[in-house]
Amino acid sequence: MKKQLSYLLVILILLLIPITTINAKTIGDIQKELDAAQKKLNDTNTKKAMNTQSLAETQKKITEIKQNITKTEENIKAKTEESKQLEKDIKKKNEETKELMRYYQISSSGSAMIEYIMGAESITDLIYRLSITEQISSYNKKVVEEMNNMIKENEKIKKDLVIKKEELVKLKEEQDTQIIVLNQKQSELDAEGESEEQVIKGMQSQLKYYKSLGCKDSDTVSVCTNKVGNTNLPVGTTFRRPTTTGRISSEFGNRILNNKANKHFAIDIAMPTGTSVYAVAPGVVGYTGEVCGISLVIWHNINGKTYSSIYCHLSKQLVKKGDVVTSDTLIAKSGCTGQCYGAHLHLGLATGRYKDILNGYSRYYSVGKGDSLEEHTFNPRDVIIFPPKGSSYSNR
Ligand SMILES: [Zn+2]
Repeated sequence: MKKQLSYLLVILILLLIPITTINAKTIGDIQKELDAAQKKLNDTNTKKAMNTQSLAETQKKITEIKQNITKTEENIKAKTEESKQLEKDIKKKNEETKELMRYYQISSSGSAMIEYIMGAESITDLIYRLSITEQISSYNKKVVEEMNNMIKENEKIKKDLVIKKEELVKLKEEQDTQIIVLNQKQSELDAEGESEEQVIKGMQSQLKYYKSLGCKDSDTVSVCTNKVGNTNLPVGTTFRRPTTTGRISSEFGNRILNNKANKHFAIDIAMPTGTSVYAVAPGVVGYTGEVCGISLVIWHNINGKTYSSIYCHLSKQLVKKGDVVTSDTLIAKSGCTGQCYGAHLHLGLATGRYKDILNGYSRYYSVGKGDSLEEHTFNPRDVIIFPPKGSSYSNR
């Protein structure tokens, strides 16, 4: 019984530990996360430098192989020409020998000999000439044989050169593949580094903001976020578009939806599910949850005035309540959750802090006169430049 009780105690402790750890994230913890993120970015940058070096080395190898291939091709060509010339020379020599043989046959036949003798020329001279002829033709035969051997040798060299060229081409193909792999890796590392930089930037501004609120390292994030008042929201001066691409599909104001008159308290921007959504201005995440599909709210202080931006129908939230954001912070991925008939982002803007339950008050929670979200919304076109309905934009 005592043993069973102690088991139960161990299980209880094990169950309690992770929950306590998750809940008690402090400002100091964020600093540690930031240090780790910076280390990771350094590693990524080292990997990037190494990859760049590998790319340069591979490129150099390819250049060398290409030069080698050209040289081998030139050698094959030279050997081919040499053989051609040799064949020509052989033909010439053969003809010469044939000529000589004919001369020898004619000269050594009896009648020619008699004619020669009768011609009062010296017999010694004739014999001498015949012996020279014989010598030359046997010499020619030897030369032809040598030249034939050279051709054979050339063919052997050419065969080796062709094999060498094939090997070089194969080697080049391998290096070309290597370049593709390295380039792929480079763009992966670039994207990795970029997102790590963004995370670091986010954490830095978060820490800076928490410190400006007077939070200590030992304070938990939730304790610290409760210090956010209307006067100490991160300050911005302008609003920006929430995405880099999109097409305006529905305007703010009165419209007909499913044959019914309806007032639309936002602007709809059509975009594929999974499009990156950024904060329209610096601020603090005031709410994440599901009011209009997966949605989130960011509070802003623009030139001293408090606003809320509302993002609906998301596929994924990438920030938590209390997170400090800049207009470059990736806050969500777009989608089509909730009441949605095609992937789009529903972007609403309102004055004041929508879904504010901090500091003990809950503005906008009670939907009554003067206190509903609808009564605080205004046309996003008043503060953000968008193209006409049906048109697209391609930057922020
Ligand atoms: Zn909408």
